[in-house]
Amino acid sequence: DVQEQTAFDVIVVGSGAGAMASAVVAADQGLSVLVVEKSDKYGGTSSISGGGIWIPNNHHFAAKGGQDSYDKALQYLRAATGGCVEEVRLRAYLDNAPKMIKYLESRSRVRYAVAEKYPDYYQHLPGSLPGGRTLDPELFDTSVLGTDLAALRQGAPSNLLMGRIAWTARQAHKAMSREFGWRLMVLGLMLRFKLDLAWRRKSKFDRRAALGTALIASLRRSLQDRKVPLWLKTEFRDLVMDGDRARGVRVQREGREMVLEARRGVVFASGGFEQSQALRDKYLPKPTVAGWSATPPGNNTGAALEAGMKIGAATGLLDRAWWAPTIRVPKEEKPRGVFAERAFPGAIVVNGLGRRFVNEAAPYLEFVDAMYQDQERSGAKSIPAWVVFDANFRFNYAMGPLMPSQIMPDSRLRKEWLNSVYWKSDTLGGLAAQIGVDAKGLEETVLRMNDYARTGVDAEFARGGNAFDRYYGDTNVKPNPCLAPLTKGPYYAMRLDAGDIGTKGGLLTNEHAQVVRDDGTPVAGLYAVGNCSSAVMGTGYPGAGATIGPAMTFGYVAAMHIAAAK
Ligand code: FAD
Repeated sequence: DVQEQTAFDVIVVGSGAGAMASAVVAADQGLSVLVVEKSDKYGGTSSISGGGIWIPNNHHFAAKGGQDSYDKALQYLRAATGGCVEEVRLRAYLDNAPKMIKYLESRSRVRYAVAEKYPDYYQHLPGSLPGGRTLDPELFDTSVLGTDLAALRQGAPSNLLMGRIAWTARQAHKAMSREFGWRLMVLGLMLRFKLDLAWRRKSKFDRRAALGTALIASLRRSLQDRKVPLWLKTEFRDLVMDGDRARGVRVQREGREMVLEARRGVVFASGGFEQSQALRDKYLPKPTVAGWSATPPGNNTGAALEAGMKIGAATGLLDRAWWAPTIRVPKEEKPRGVFAERAFPGAIVVNGLGRRFVNEAAPYLEFVDAMYQDQERSGAKSIPAWVVFDANFRFNYAMGPLMPSQIMPDSRLRKEWLNSVYWKSDTLGGLAAQIGVDAKGLEETVLRMNDYARTGVDAEFARGGNAFDRYYGDTNVKPNPCLAPLTKGPYYAMRLDAGDIGTKGGLLTNEHAQVVRDDGTPVAGLYAVGNCSSAVMGTGYPGAGATIGPAMTFGYVAAMHIAAAK
């Protein structure tokens, strides 16, 4: 009985994208593999994510005639990572990321397509591209999972069209930016969903998974193909060492203590520490609250980090996270990340003085960095910050859980959302009073912003001044697709917390994904990938998919290294 087996070549801790990619590759290399997952669901944050992966020089872009090169990507990565990552790791990423995705697509059920229009996040840096490095998962038919479908962690409702219909990031983008033909496309998706009569009888959700859930479902099916066991409700507690070599793990499986032997290697892929308030208090800038994180509550509490530190592993970037502003919605288990809406024309973000402090359309990591900097610099109460918009914006665009009022007017919004998810007033002054923001400051800011909308130039923060900002702009709005005046009441405000989509500090690893000590020597038999490792992306977020891309790539690298080691 495979369930009772307690010795394996490789034990993978966690079941996110990096974990499962590693397990698939290790199994292909002829190694016996076990995946242990603490939750009763598999997939982790990876499963509720966009599932995008940032892969410079990928074969999909090349097949479409895209121009990228290793040297260009290296130049960009050097600049984007803030100079704190050893070049050998950057090179390992650039060498292996394209190989990893080619490998998985040719050997497993994983399928991606290129998001040609998704620009790298730092358009001003040398070597950046206006698109082509981000890959977006294809939809995946989850009916092939059989009974394992029940334990698949489902994506957040905001990831699906109307909370239940699967769509790719490319399709979602087309609708959000109201590109030509978006209405017809949405209608088509809805029709296909309704007409899937067999599945409609079984489930209120789409048969097909999208985004991160599609990625995780495809990896789960790939593990089934290889008969790799995945134990749910099995929590890693500690390492078992044999001298200075990792030789196994101590776990608690459905309440029972067990020791599992890992003959060739342990791969930590158990996420960051964003769900541990104690570790947040210890390492992250203040104020910090686990409840602001858009990640699944209770999952990622830094178990690998603590076990690694106990055996003398080096760490890095512990004061950093993959920041993203979030909005809390009552009755939802976790807050929602606000990735795109900040760039839509006519929404501005202000601090307690009613002043802007950042380009609203900036990448989400930089946006929250700016919240902390503004808070620190001027004590301006930018945590929380407030996003403010008018009735025109409300009519046309979504903001967090508020769908455009042309689809969902205020009268149809949940009553309890008023004054908890959104605030509303006929005047800016009235709105400012409700949310405790300086009224005069807000009114001046809006006047100034309305001027910028007319000229198309944001003289303070250059919003809409590059391809990344404009990706989520409205192509129909001129002269600047990210700027529109706020002129029509009622006015609305929503609270933005200094949230995250995972922490990015963790165990330091080398180019083989091996955990290293302070002196740089590897801990034999111990690997770390994903957010339990110190991010190869350093202090930056070079492009969409820059967290899962590395998690999967170094998962692949770790498996290959274990297989090659004698
Ligand atoms: P996870 O995917 O969280 O996996 C860790 C797993 O380990 C979890 O299942 C957890 O339960 C388990 N675990 C934890 N502790 C233990 C233990 N002690 N024993 C056993 N198991 C344990 N990033 C991108 O690159 N592209 C995107 O498109 C993207 N979109 C996102 C959208 C949203 C809404 C969010 C919230 C995040 C997004 N991210 C995206 C970020 C990305 O999802 C995470 O950074 C990434 O998934 C982390 O991967 P991981 O493998 O480190 O952790």
